[in-house]
Amino acid sequence: MNYKEIWFVALGHLKETLPQHAIDAWFEPIKAIGISEDKFLLEVPNQFFCEWIDSHYKKELMRSIGLSDNSLGGYRFSIGAVSKEFEESALILKEKSKPVVHQNNLNRQYSFENFIEGSNNEFAKNAGKSVSEKPGENNFNPLTIYGGVGLGKTHLMHAIGNAAVKKNPHLNVVVVTSERFTLDFVNSLRKNKTIEFAQQYRSADMLLIDDVQFFRGKEQTQEQFFHTFNVLHQAGKQIVMTADKYPGEMKGLQSRLLSRFESGLSVDIQPPNFEVRVAILLEKAEQNGVSLEYEFIEFIAKHIKNNVRDLEGAVIRVLAKSSLLNKEIDHTLVRDVVRERTGGVLTTGVSIEKIVRKVSELSGVSEQDIVGKSRKMEIAEARQVSMFLCREILGGSLSGIGLFFGGRDHTTVMHAVKTISDKIQKNTKVKDSIEALRTDLNQTF
Ligand code: ADP
Ligand code: MG
Repeated sequence: MNYKEIWFVALGHLKETLPQHAIDAWFEPIKAIGISEDKFLLEVPNQFFCEWIDSHYKKELMRSIGLSDNSLGGYRFSIGAVSKEFEESALILKEKSKPVVHQNNLNRQYSFENFIEGSNNEFAKNAGKSVSEKPGENNFNPLTIYGGVGLGKTHLMHAIGNAAVKKNPHLNVVVVTSERFTLDFVNSLRKNKTIEFAQQYRSADMLLIDDVQFFRGKEQTQEQFFHTFNVLHQAGKQIVMTADKYPGEMKGLQSRLLSRFESGLSVDIQPPNFEVRVAILLEKAEQNGVSLEYEFIEFIAKHIKNNVRDLEGAVIRVLAKSSLLNKEIDHTLVRDVVRERTGGVLTTGVSIEKIVRKVSELSGVSEQDIVGKSRKMEIAEARQVSMFLCREILGGSLSGIGLFFGGRDHTTVMHAVKTISDKIQKNTKVKDSIEALRTDLNQTF
């Protein structure tokens, strides 16, 4: 089966297990775009889809993909405006005499307006703006935006395209990931349509090409890209690229290609500082219709530092979780989400010992008793409170916590967590003391 057939079959399986509304809302808009390194590549309209599907339907999706082709090791999302297949684009090209407004695959959600500016990205943003105002007319050609994962390269590149089309609706903007470029090229070889392939790209007034590092090791595709690049560049057409590294430091790309890249302007995007992270979170919360209290925003911004996609993911995950579990957005929920995102680590500066010490100070029960065997009521309660806080703040495994508290097993810890959660709901005294302890442990957000 080819990838389209695999998706067709997988969708069939999904339809058997999921309600129609879920299929309509989340699966019909998905497009299978290929297979790369044993992962099924699925194109979704935006980040929200990735998060929502991962948190609600991951199991079902994995299962249905496995059922239709068990050699696949899962799936990977790629975000883009749902793209047309190569054949369709070639068709559009044939009718080229009449159209004046070109179809493109720009993701309209990515604009300069919603790209938060900070010292980490202002140079890149300004260069992008000036390219969008005068494509091909200044020395910023090609413009290469480089930087780490999830820092806004793709966003900025699409913003350039969107702004350019807004200014001049006749501009033919071709936007593509380098993976897509490669797939299209390979398909064109297979179908003897390399001429159409070349035309499709060479007719661009502006070529936006994402993640050029993926050309690494693909000699024939690089060759093809080199020619496309030259044709466009010589004709004064604008080229914008993104990459994970400064062009001069990219490995596995032909040096003649790299020297072309370096002939234009390369701008970097760095990780955002705290204030920019807060601004981005506020913007993303608003975009997704979540009202998040400021203390939660600050908490997320304190812990998730290196990746804007993760920041955005955290907001969406908070929303998804609260709707899935039908729960208010509270400390525990936000903390859980942040913990998932940071791989279980929260830089809290808190240890089990510190929690026990604080509980001991507040309750008057000795530290020894808390970790000891006694079942006396006030001792047991102090122990349960400690276990609860360990679980909430440190997030360790239930068994690990049990071990520390006198070698108890995980069910005891589970019971403690549940008991205290219930008490917090019903008993304001317990609630207040937990709050006091959180504050004391510097765990208020
Ligand atoms: P990259 O291409 O560098 O891996 P993306 O452009 O895909 O990163 O960005 C990841 C997510 O973070 C996107 O949803 C994007 O909208 C968002 N993002 C990144 N930087 C910013 C920013 N400065 N302002 C607003 N959103 C941003
Ligand atoms: Mg990207």
